[in-house]
Amino acid sequence: MPLTSTASKVLIVTGASRGIGAAIARLAAQHGYAVCLSYLGNRVAADEVVASIVGNGGVALAVQADVAVEKDVVRLFAQVDASLGRVTALVNNAGILERQTRVEDMDAARISRIFATNVIGSFICAREAVRRMSTAHGGTGGAIVNLSSRASRLGSPGEYVDYAASKAAIDTLTIGLAKEVAAEGIRVNAVSPGIIYTDIHASGGDPDRVDRMKDLVPMKRGGTAEEVARAVLWLLSDAASYTTGATIDVAGGR
Ligand code: NAP
Repeated sequence: MPLTSTASKVLIVTGASRGIGAAIARLAAQHGYAVCLSYLGNRVAADEVVASIVGNGGVALAVQADVAVEKDVVRLFAQVDASLGRVTALVNNAGILERQTRVEDMDAARISRIFATNVIGSFICAREAVRRMSTAHGGTGGAIVNLSSRASRLGSPGEYVDYAASKAAIDTLTIGLAKEVAAEGIRVNAVSPGIIYTDIHASGGDPDRVDRMKDLVPMKRGGTAEEVARAVLWLLSDAASYTTGATIDVAGGR
């Protein structure tokens, strides 16, 4: 695992041991980013992503860090400063949901867990990124992409309204932060996936959710993590140089 890099493009992807985050990390490496992928507990999977990137000639580093724990996030960014250099891109990807249920059966602890990871984690990672990227702090600018969800506007009734509401907070973070740092060289955008084939549905107790729901999608299929990653990489790139505060739906028309 290379511990130093001279790459000018340094990306942190949170929650990139699996699923959409792993696809973003792999595609970003192909586009010349030195990539730090964070994970919560699945070190084996994170190391596999690193190995595949390094095996293809890229630069990657895996760091265990719970985005819901502020000191973990601070340590994550400090480790990237030391190993890869100043971060130029952040993808707030780490996100969780819990077992499908109705609001009347949710307790405060569950809702707090969802918001701690999905919302507060994204805020604290964005804070650390802005402190490094902003021209007001001596940085050279950068790009942030937040993973929202179509759930923020569909509401996820009977499944996880808490998760959907956390993604609505991400939509607002995207709009507000984009305006706050637009004149400081930082673009902030979001990608809003529909139903994508990853492990997240199993954590909701419904591992076959994508196939169960795909007929509701105008394209009549679920999406892949790679299809989401392509939209994220476009938003990070200079091709999106006049795009900020925007959300791209990657949801097959739903
Ligand atoms: P996933 O397959 O369940 O993977 C989740 C990733 O996040 C894993 O790498 C996991 O690490 C990491 N993670 C979980 N909690 C974390 C924490 N507290 N701190 C750091 N990392 C953490 O999820 P996914 O489907 O790829 O989802 C990625 C993002 O897309 C999420 O924000 C999700 O809400 C959003 N999204 C997904 C879909 C979909 O249909 N899949 C649709 C809309 C939006 P470990 O491997 O170590 O556990």
